Amino acid sequence: AFEARFAKSKGRQAAYAALREVEPFTRCGTRITVMMNAGLRDDMPNLSLTGADGVGLFRTEFQFLVSATLPARERQTRLYRDVLDSAGDKPVVFRTVDIGGDKVLPYLRHNDGEDEENPAMGWRALRVALERDGLLKVQARALIEAAAGRTLNVMFPMVSEPWEFDAACAVFEGQRKFLKGQKKLLPEAIRYGAMLEVPALAEQLDLIAPKLSFLSIGTNDLTQFLFAADRANPKLAERYDWLSPAILRFLRRVQLSLAGHQVDITVCGEMGGRRLEALALMGIGIERLSITPASVGPIKELVRKIDLKEIGAAMNQWLSAPPPNLREALAAWALERGIEID
Ligand code: PEP
Ligand code: MG
Repeated sequence: AFEARFAKSKGRQAAYAALREVEPFTRCGTRITVMMNAGLRDDMPNLSLTGADGVGLFRTEFQFLVSATLPARERQTRLYRDVLDSAGDKPVVFRTVDIGGDKVLPYLRHNDGEDEENPAMGWRALRVALERDGLLKVQARALIEAAAGRTLNVMFPMVSEPWEFDAACAVFEGQRKFLKGQKKLLPEAIRYGAMLEVPALAEQLDLIAPKLSFLSIGTNDLTQFLFAADRANPKLAERYDWLSPAILRFLRRVQLSLAGHQVDITVCGEMGGRRLEALALMGIGIERLSITPASVGPIKELVRKIDLKEIGAAMNQWLSAPPPNLREALAAWALERGIEID
């Protein structure tokens, strides 16, 4: 059984490699944007290996996590510049540090050194970065300098309230002004985005939509907060399904609430890298995914097999009157059309 599976997987890998240069258009002619997630310099060769459209999520905290001390500004600038150089014409979206919570840095005291009862909902990400100039301000300068002469795409993690997004943008604008005063070459443009991973932000998206260039939905955290289910607890992993009407209805509502605005919406959580989940996401109107590099081939292949109107109609029906098991319904739908799902 293993040998048969291995041979099948090898055959598939070859088919995915052949798709590297092929643009992922659906059968109905919509171009789906398939980007990859990254966090280190060493991840960047995957861009050309997979043929991804860019880096939709660069987790900048990885540099902090692999370092013994807080990375100095110059080191950060070098990394960001190297990443942009290796991406060439393809866009890179840098997420400002998401540390705290489960990503503890031994050289940085969090929460005044106190242990937290719920670190995932605690003193982490933008909450810490806004408080510490040594984090956000330094990172803003490093990113702006690294992106001189190009477009800088930056997004903020765990935005829960509009003022947090405004405050983070203000830190970047302050650094842009400072560097302009120093007659430094600036980025051609800075595009600001927020991650949607705290459900509360969904209720106030209209307030920041005019200032947003893009929204990136982090389904890993979003799911744990929607279901109140720790994403790191294996006992809960099987219990709450990404293909539950609760999540998909929520995402569809977010998608519809931004319909009149010029805001790109991407899903950058692990959900988008799984074929059945990606099918459901495209069925509710998501046309941009940022996923683990190993999933780029399988998702590009899936995209070429689907018709958005067809899956859109099916999803509409299922989300209006959910079947007992949406995963099974979707799998059967895919099977009927000869679409492999794993
Ligand atoms: C997410 O929460 O879905 C996400 C993409 O961010 P991270 O996994 O780094 O928390
Ligand atoms: Mg997250």
